[in-house]
Amino acid sequence: MKNKVILISVDGMRPDGLANCGNPYVETLNNICSYTYNGRSVTPSVTFPCHFSMTHSVPPQRHGMLTNTYVPQVRPIKGIFEKIADNGGACAMAYGWEPLRDIALPGSLVYAYYLNAYAEESSDTVLTDVADMFVSKYDPDLTFLYMVETDEKGGHDNGWMSSEYLRRISIAVDNIKRMIEKYGDTHSIIIMADHGGHERGHGSEMPEDMTVPFFFYGNKFEPGKELHNVSLLEIAPTIASILEISPDSQWEGRDLTK
Ligand SMILES: [Zn+2]
Repeated sequence: MKNKVILISVDGMRPDGLANCGNPYVETLNNICSYTYNGRSVTPSVTFPCHFSMTHSVPPQRHGMLTNTYVPQVRPIKGIFEKIADNGGACAMAYGWEPLRDIALPGSLVYAYYLNAYAEESSDTVLTDVADMFVSKYDPDLTFLYMVETDEKGGHDNGWMSSEYLRRISIAVDNIKRMIEKYGDTHSIIIMADHGGHERGHGSEMPEDMTVPFFFYGNKFEPGKELHNVSLLEIAPTIASILEISPDSQWEGRDLTK
């Protein structure tokens, strides 16, 4: 495929957490990306259902993943990884939470690397090293980098908006900066969060749990443009459009390059 995408998910990253993390590169993101600080998660605002909606462009009530445990779909819809594989493309995934492996069916990934969040002081940074290696060595059509320390070590262990949560977001922003500076000229780069959080958890329909930021970088997206009415369902159709493959007929989200 002539175009390439890097998708970066920062688990549990609230818009106000990003805005207040103290990393100066956040302002750069606002200036170089099309973006929103008012995007929507899905209900339940829980990691596996959210990422399944992000990759399959339907709400949890349609795909059937209502908890963090994978169940085979009753009325199967293909996700972005399967669509890319069907079109002869290659996908990579570097991820810090093991159950996430089930967002891609066996056979749809060529490269994958899992690292437990507690295996390193900053597993997210090591996962970024691996994603960087995947891109530089193999140049997959879609490289998915999933960072989880914001959620696990930040929000759940210390509380959403705690100093440790904000510090973990700042580390994630440093990792995002690294990927944009190295690959921004050759790749479209999408940055998202699956859900927010409050106190020590998430999963409710509270605005703190449901509101997420999205950033879209590359020649398909106008720098500095504020987007409206964006949800997790838009991610898969937008990636398909960049890669010039057809969206699945069952997908419900919009193509944001249009
Ligand atoms: Zn999550």
